[in-house]
Amino acid sequence: MVEPAAAPLADARGRVVTDLRLSLTDRCNFRCTYCMPAEGLPWLSRPELLTVDEIDRLARVFVGLGVTEVKLTGGEPTLRREVVEIVARLRAIDNELDLSLTTNGFLLERFAAPLREAGLDRLNVSCDSMLRHRFEAMTRRDALGKVHDGLAAAEAAGFSPIKLNCVVIGGTNDDEVVDFARLARRSGYDVRFIEYMPLDADHAWERAKVVASADVRAAIHASFPLVPRERGPEPASTFDFADGAPGSVGFISSVTEPFCDSCNRVRVTAEGQLRVCLFALEETDLRAALRDGRSDDELADLIRDAVWRKWAGHRINSPDFIQPVRTMSAIGG
Ligand code: SAM
Ligand code: SF4
Repeated sequence: MVEPAAAPLADARGRVVTDLRLSLTDRCNFRCTYCMPAEGLPWLSRPELLTVDEIDRLARVFVGLGVTEVKLTGGEPTLRREVVEIVARLRAIDNELDLSLTTNGFLLERFAAPLREAGLDRLNVSCDSMLRHRFEAMTRRDALGKVHDGLAAAEAAGFSPIKLNCVVIGGTNDDEVVDFARLARRSGYDVRFIEYMPLDADHAWERAKVVASADVRAAIHASFPLVPRERGPEPASTFDFADGAPGSVGFISSVTEPFCDSCNRVRVTAEGQLRVCLFALEETDLRAALRDGRSDDELADLIRDAVWRKWAGHRINSPDFIQPVRTMSAIGG
């Protein structure tokens, strides 16, 4: 158990950080068109990655600063060979910590039960199409069957509710949103529709391909009337089905309804760079601090200083927007 800090981890605009996204690897076994190039990226070498001990120590410092939620991500976090050990180590920090993991689901059949036993609370599984050939076109892998197997294993392991992340891209999969809502009703999943963001390696993002959450919501509402759930600290706005069917739909509207004013997140990349915004152009090198022998208090000061300088918000909607060099997979979405 880590003693929480007296002062919250806040920025100069009064936003308080409680949510840490930790990337375990930059590698991935998929090549989603909106994220990675077909040929992959130059991967980090093993010594460049934070070690399990370094991850554990950093997480303890963040929890000491008031972080209550840690999401493990990547790249594909299940490719990190110590993923189960990392979950167990983080669980040991604090039983109350909300510990979740985002995965493409390909290896979940193997990992769902061990992750649950190690203390993982929640799973987000990404799936952008229920049509085999479209799924293959979007991920560049013929793997929809494996994702279904993974989802079944996650349910059997007791994860509930499972969140399904679906990036909606105009002209590609926007005709499936009502089918995804139907899946939510059938399975009890929380399906989250994510607006397409300019973080793709191919620089193919165009404003015209962003499908506004409001339009997705309206299309679903026309078939299955929705009622809004009271909004929590999360960026997603969640809706239940008015007829009381199981499941829900949520919307992460980073482009059309930015939630920067209430952002409570920071990210640490697989090689230990702190990013206080998904779209940040600057990073703070926590790995160097860890390997230079800095104390926990010194690490905490570095983190506090970086968070204090967090900018007001991303500038996707401004003409002077600059896309970060890192892709989503190298940041940790
Ligand atoms: N590999 C895991 C997965 O796909 O779930 C975890 C990492 S992935 C980068 C995390 C989330 O980011 C996924 O739900 C993915 O769909 C989303 N994502 C990736 N690129 C995106 C983009 N350009 N716009 C919006 N969401 C994106
Ligand atoms: Fe891999 Fe996830 Fe990026 Fe797809 S979105 S390429 S699964 S990291």
